Order: sequence, then C-alpha cells, then structure tokens
Amino acid sequence: MSSSGSVICAVIGRTRHKMVQLEIHEAAKRGAKLIELRLDFLAKAPDFKRLLADRPCPLIATFRRPADGGRFAGSEEERQMLIRQAIVAGFDWVDLETDIADRIPRFGKVKRIISYHNLHETPSNLEDLHRHMCQQDADVVKIAVTACQPSDSLRVLKLLKDPPKPTVAIAMGDLGVCTRILGAKYGAPFTYGAFNKERSFAPGLLSVHELQRIYHYEKINRDTQVYGVIGDPVGHSLSPVIHNQAFRKLGINAVYLPFRVPRGELAGFLRDFAAIPVHGYSVTLPHKEAAAKIEGQHDASVDATGAANTLVSTIHGWRSYNTDMMAAVESLRAHLPVGEDGKPSELASRTVLVLGAGGVARAVALGLHREGAGVTIANRTFERAVKLAEEIGCKVIDWAARHNVLCDTLINCTSVGMFPNMDESPIHSSYLRPGLLVFDTVYTPETTLLIREAAERGCHVLTGVDMFVRQAALQFKLFTGLDAPFDEMLDAARRALSPVNYAKVEDEAAARQAENQE
Ligand code: NAP
Repeated sequence: MSSSGSVICAVIGRTRHKMVQLEIHEAAKRGAKLIELRLDFLAKAPDFKRLLADRPCPLIATFRRPADGGRFAGSEEERQMLIRQAIVAGFDWVDLETDIADRIPRFGKVKRIISYHNLHETPSNLEDLHRHMCQQDADVVKIAVTACQPSDSLRVLKLLKDPPKPTVAIAMGDLGVCTRILGAKYGAPFTYGAFNKERSFAPGLLSVHELQRIYHYEKINRDTQVYGVIGDPVGHSLSPVIHNQAFRKLGINAVYLPFRVPRGELAGFLRDFAAIPVHGYSVTLPHKEAAAKIEGQHDASVDATGAANTLVSTIHGWRSYNTDMMAAVESLRAHLPVGEDGKPSELASRTVLVLGAGGVARAVALGLHREGAGVTIANRTFERAVKLAEEIGCKVIDWAARHNVLCDTLINCTSVGMFPNMDESPIHSSYLRPGLLVFDTVYTPETTLLIREAAERGCHVLTGVDMFVRQAALQFKLFTGLDAPFDEMLDAARRALSPVNYAKVEDEAAARQAENQE
C-alpha cells in the first residue's frame, strides 16, 4: 500500500478458488494495490496456500458473517478458526470485527483491520464506537454503517478528522455514496471497490472501474474541490461522468459526486454540506423548483423559468441559474438545417410544435419563444399546456390534435420513449416528413423510437444528449469560470450511454470468463 495517498482496495468474492486467483491477477493488472478477498463467498473450505501463491499485491482475508452482510454459512466458532488459520497462513491483512478482535491476538507481520458494520442505521453512539475501536489493536479501523439521511454521511466523514488510528469510514447505501469517494480527501488510507460489479458485496459499493475511470479516486487529495449533483434518484445520473471528465481534461483538482437528497430536504442538505464545503451543484428532479427558491441570488434565467438546475457557492451565499433554457436554444441553433440559399435557417423563422408541459418543455418553449420562434404547445394534460402557453404567450393545442399542427420543428419534451418504455413514441410516424427538424430531449436512450423513425423518414434529427451536455458545459463554466471541453464531455456521455460502454465491456468480459470456468 502506498503511504502517499488513498488507494482503491479491490473486493473479490467468488465461489471457486480458480476464479478468485484469476480475478486477483486481473485486478492487479488494472492497477489494484490492495485486494480484499471475501472468503465467505467460497463454496468450499479455503485453500490458503493456493490463494496466497504468487500474489501480486497485499491481500486482506475477510470472512464476513451474515449479520454484517456476509455469506459465511458455518458456525461462529468455525469462522474464528478460519480467521486464525488465515493469519498463520500469511495473509498480509486480516479483517476482525470489533466484537471478536480482542480474542484474536496480533501475529507476526499480519496487519489488522478492526471493523464494525451496521446494515440498518448510523447508530447514535458512532463516535464512541470509533473511539473504542481505535483503542483496540488495529492498524486500520473500518466503520461501515447505513446512511438513513444525507447528514449521516457527514457524521461518518467527521470520524476521519485526526483519528487516533487510520480510519476507513463509509456510509452504506445510496445516501452515502459520497463517503466512498471523499475518504480520499480526508485521509482514509483506502476505499473499497467491487472488482466485479455484478457481485453485491455491500449496499452502494462502487466498482473499481467507477472509482478509477469516473472519479479518478487515487488523484483526490485534501486540496480537491468538491462539486456534485443533487437529485432523487441520482444513481444513474450521467453528470458525474461528464463533469469529472471535464475536470480531468483541464487538469483541475476537483471531483464531482452524486448526492441523493430526498424531496423536501434540499435546504437542510445545503446547510449541512457547507461543512465539506461543496462549491457548486447541478440540480435535478425533484429539486429544480425548490432550488429556485433557495435563499440567495437568482439569475434572470431562474426568474424566467421558475426552476434552477445550477447552484454556485459565492461569498454572498448561493447563486442559482437555469442552464436548460440556454442549452436548448444553443443545441437547436447548432443543428438548424441549411436552407435553399446554403445558409442555416434562423431560429426566429421556425414554427415549433413542443410536446409536453413539464420542466423541460417550459425551458425549451420559453427559450424559443424569446428567440422569436412561433411556438405551439400540446400536452397530454390540457390544463397544464394552457397554463404554460398563457405564461409564455404562445399557442396551445389539444393533445389529440397534435398531428394536425403544421410546423417545421417538432420537439419532444415528454418522457415518452424513455427507458424502459423504449417502444413508445409521442407522435405517429406518418407525421414525420422529409425536411422536418425533430428534436427529442429524451437521452436515455440516445436513439429513441421517435429519432429512429424520424431518421428513416428523412427528417433532420437532434437527440437529447447534445442539450444535456450543453447544459452541463454551461454549468461547468459557472463552476470554474473556464470554457468546458464540450467534445470530451459529449464523448464521455455517449460512451456512458452506449449499450457497450467501457465498464460493461470490461466487467462483462471478466464475468463471462468467470462463468465459463466456474
Ligand atoms: P416532467 O416535468 O415530469 O414532465 C413530463 C412531461 O411528460 C409532462 O408534460 C407529461 O404530461 C408528459 N408525459 C409523461 N408521460 C406521458 C405519456 N405517457 N404520454 C404523453 N405525455 C406524457 O419532466 P421534465 O423534467 O420536463 O422531463 C421530461 C423529459 O425530458 C424527461 O423524461 C427526460 O427524458 C428529458 N430531459 C432531457 C434533458 C436534456 O438535457 N436533454 C434534461 C432533463 C430532462 P402530463 O402533464 O400530462 O403529465
């Protein structure tokens, strides 16, 4: 283990020895400097000699019991016997739960992780527990508790402030994902990452691939600035992929994290997490309206849309922005078809049918109306369409009559066609005629049924990925003051959205190889 910075400990758990050995070497090839073997996954009694032969890096022996999220099926007596045998066999590290650690004495050079797991909560006596564990004969203290609210992550991270013993402190679950990454900033010696994401070792555990490729974990240090996305759910957000890629490309020492914040808890979250501090947030569902009302300064784009998707920390407090509106306009402007005179057409000359009346429809319709385009709104719930059209000052039409509207630009701002309902389209294919500009704001998947049918029928097509990356690029500029590396961000988004993205290629190849041999 390196003494300079925090490293990723790859967690490997397989039922067969052969697979464990294979994954140890594969993990080392991909840069693992420490590996935890979850020996409780083995179907047969462990053959320590075999597992330890030719090890490319230090190995941790762990026999996790079911109460702590493990799979060990034997008695507690048998488990402790195996732990003692693993120590004598020459593992570099051994994981000992705090309640048994005092019964298993230090032996030779084997280093001791004293651990505590709580799959239900972040207990009220967390700090006392940590203090006690630091007094046990530990080389590293590991605390893994369950986050039940965002502030539990902060309590867990606080344990890393000058601990008497090197500490790895993790809040498990999707509310605590940030703790798995921020440990590097606060001096944790390592974090855990699943070598193979398909194996579920612990709630919220990221894969080694995600830690390396998305978060650049081993580059994080105490000077690293923190940004993030607030939403619920937020686990599948593309924002960490593209913002971290942009930071990396420009050599900025910053990391961008996902923060799951339940509805109604935005203000409290912002107050609490100022302790980190977080310098800027992207804001997604369901918090965009609440973010527009946060105390602080609001950009005109927020006043106009009633929603904020960006919060930037300033010396005067939060300043909110809405980059969706400008992104939609920029995206369309960059993809306007060339007219008969060989010049791109003007936005002001377009007649646009906007499908939907939600948050994205508001940003798109308002942005285009301001550019002078003729906008008509159709929405499944007519009253919402009427309300939006009245606010903007544009036309409205009944949802059932949408196929009768004559326009040169069709924009889908409904969620129709989005994963998992990918066989749906908001408009009949007969509406799609050559030359029509069709913009689908849905980006999961990038090629929706609407985009596919439009392309087949000779329409100009524009997918939601371009707008998504543009709104992120505008945020990046607000966060850093620098022009965003748009092309890199677009590439990163496309790779992440691709059904054959890097993670899958690598993890599936390893899994396939494993299944073939198991
Ligand atoms: P929202 O506020 O919840 O609005 C959803 C809209 O979809 C409403 O107009 C709703 O109509 C309509 N809708 C839902 N199911 C429908 C159905 N089965 N048939 C017809 N209409 C239906 O969501 P939002 O924030 O505006 O997001 C809308 C979509 O935009 C998302 O699904 C996402 O794919 C996309 N998006 C894109 C970007 C980007 O940057 N490219 C950013 C954010 C979102 P009702 O009013 O009748 O319910």
